[in-house]
Amino acid sequence: SSFQPEFALSQPALRLRFGPGVRRDTGAEIERLGCARAAVLSTPGKRGMAEELAGDIGQLAAGIVPLAEMHTPVSVTQAALEKFDRLKADCLVSIGGGSTIGLGKALALRTGLPQIVLPTTYAGSEATPVLGQTEGGRKTTLTDPRVQPQVILYDAELVRSLPVPITVASALNAMAHAAEGLYARDSNPLAALFAAEGLRAFHKALPAVCRNPQDLRARGETLYGAWLCGTVLGQVGMALHHKLCHVLGGSFGLPHAETHAVMLPHTIGFNASAAGALLDPVREIFGDADVGRGLAAFADQVGAPRALRDLGMAEADLGRAADLAMEAAYWNPRPLVRDEILGLLRAAWAGETGP
Ligand code: NAD
Repeated sequence: SSFQPEFALSQPALRLRFGPGVRRDTGAEIERLGCARAAVLSTPGKRGMAEELAGDIGQLAAGIVPLAEMHTPVSVTQAALEKFDRLKADCLVSIGGGSTIGLGKALALRTGLPQIVLPTTYAGSEATPVLGQTEGGRKTTLTDPRVQPQVILYDAELVRSLPVPITVASALNAMAHAAEGLYARDSNPLAALFAAEGLRAFHKALPAVCRNPQDLRARGETLYGAWLCGTVLGQVGMALHHKLCHVLGGSFGLPHAETHAVMLPHTIGFNASAAGALLDPVREIFGDADVGRGLAAFADQVGAPRALRDLGMAEADLGRAADLAMEAAYWNPRPLVRDEILGLLRAAWAGETGP
């Protein structure tokens, strides 16, 4: 049992549906919210997906807003708001990954409209009250219950088209939420349960998806893992792993999910000695008493990217990345020493097996 004598937990009102083909019930879900004019959001690249969904929704679709971009630029949100006013929409339907869901959250914050989300990656944004936005090259993050989506429809058919390399990186991105959730200072017994179950789901289903990306059952199980891991991300505080990925993405332009995938064995391995038994689920699920080695072996099994240098990181920038990681004060189970962080970054840059 992971019972703790003292803990707090906020659970938003949430409707969740899993099922291959469940996207075809989006219209019914719009009506269930008491709404009649949905704005369907996507990225420009996934406009076709949004048009198809709007076609399914029929009369209840007010129009599509295919403007979402990575890191939710405020300028894009403002352009979407203008388009949005003309649509007279009364709810938001986001179909896509974290970028599209980010636009939906940014619009919900400004309009108060309810959101239905159909995730097509495993990043987990749909399960959190967190919104990251960029303006003038700076990314800021806020936590507000108004951005938390009310309805999530996980349709395994929508992720079949996710190419295997993106699938793998996105899955390891999700797993990082669970791994850091296990040792979070403000964790709770339910977050620990969700984290372990989420890691178990990916450990089982991700190799199956790599063998056959069309396997709907395995795809569904990875979405189940994504929801569990995303829920952990929304409930408890993250530490070194998320901080480092934020620095590498924000200041050096590295790709979001791939950076998480490369860093995972290194950061969680780094914290293993300090986290002690809290990381036992990782030891058990990945079958290695050495947390970093177990996660690295799994990453290799599914063909994940393993080196920051392969993502375009310059060796000469590692020192500055270590400095930035030391900058803002944040909690971590293992005290942060600049030279140790630099050593960790060097190992991740070269693609060595975890510490
Ligand atoms: P993304 O939405 O940009 O998608 C990644 C890539 O996958 C894109 O190229 C997209 O076109 C492609 N793709 C998505 N679905 C596809 C499909 N079904 N078939 C084929 N290709 C598909 O990125 P992401 O990794 O999902 O999310 C990352 C973003 O989300 C970051 O900006 C991150 O900060 C944010 N995020 C926020 C939270 C939060 O709680 N606020 C949580 C996780 C991630």
